[in-house]
Amino acid sequence: MATHGGIDLGGTKIQTVIVDDDHEVLGSARRPTPTSGGPPDVAREIEAALREAAEQAGVEPASLAGVGVGSPGTIDGGNVTSARNLPDWEGSFPLASTLSDALGTPVRLGNDVQVATDAEFALGAGRPYNSLLGVFWGTGVGGGIVLDGKPWVGRGAAGEIGHIVVELDGARCTCGRRGCMEAYAGRSAMEAEARRQHEEGQKTDLFKLMEKHEKPRLTSGIWARAIERGDELAERLIDEAVDALGIAVASACNVLDPEAVIIGGGLGVRFGDPYAKRIYEAMMPHLFHDDHPPVMRVAELGDLGGALGAALLVA
Ligand SMILES: [Zn+2]
Repeated sequence: MATHGGIDLGGTKIQTVIVDDDHEVLGSARRPTPTSGGPPDVAREIEAALREAAEQAGVEPASLAGVGVGSPGTIDGGNVTSARNLPDWEGSFPLASTLSDALGTPVRLGNDVQVATDAEFALGAGRPYNSLLGVFWGTGVGGGIVLDGKPWVGRGAAGEIGHIVVELDGARCTCGRRGCMEAYAGRSAMEAEARRQHEEGQKTDLFKLMEKHEKPRLTSGIWARAIERGDELAERLIDEAVDALGIAVASACNVLDPEAVIIGGGLGVRFGDPYAKRIYEAMMPHLFHDDHPPVMRVAELGDLGGALGAALLVA
């Protein structure tokens, strides 16, 4: 039986898996993504994380049938360009050949959000459907599309659901434009807004919880804890995020009409079914054909989805 590697390269962590032909996980490892240095340093850390998973699986990296990588930034063959969340990665870097030389096995690259969507389609919550929209609600909000059983990437830039405009002349987005959904629903935008309102005198436990749990930022877990405590500012910002998600998902569904919407990402998975239901309710008023809405489900593969989807690139 052949074994494959999968790597999810994220802004905060590198997740690797070794799987067999049945997609069973034989080994896995997770390492923090380097925050300094540049692409060669990140590549070395990826190599180490893959070796760690391979050791756990009892296989040599060189004996793998191949390794897939889900990466942020623009993927052009074996190169990754402008991976904004990675250190000093504005230019182009030959990630596939660098890893292939280091590991002694073929390496293929894919877009991080698209491979996570493909994983849910093939192995997770999307299995019963032939078309779906994946919505990954985390630091930003990414989207992946499967139409008629095949990934749809357009000319390489499709799926940017986070930058659907939900408010004309609205909040400033990290992309430099105004009113994007991500400017309300992305975790980093929510943190910036919470900080701004807190500095203006709004009461909130969000930052106390962050210090207590020794987190460098407002993680999904911190938001969830604040909501459990009934923190008003956290609730208000999450309500705005849910509304923005609902509007953007409805807009995408009005164009694509997919059978299902899969909600994933750090916040999406953490908040789970009750919030998928809330996003569904926020979507409905904006859905043109509201007599046959898409099914909305939470991603099933959790933290390993991206790495499992990357392994599908070489399956
Ligand atoms: Zn934007």
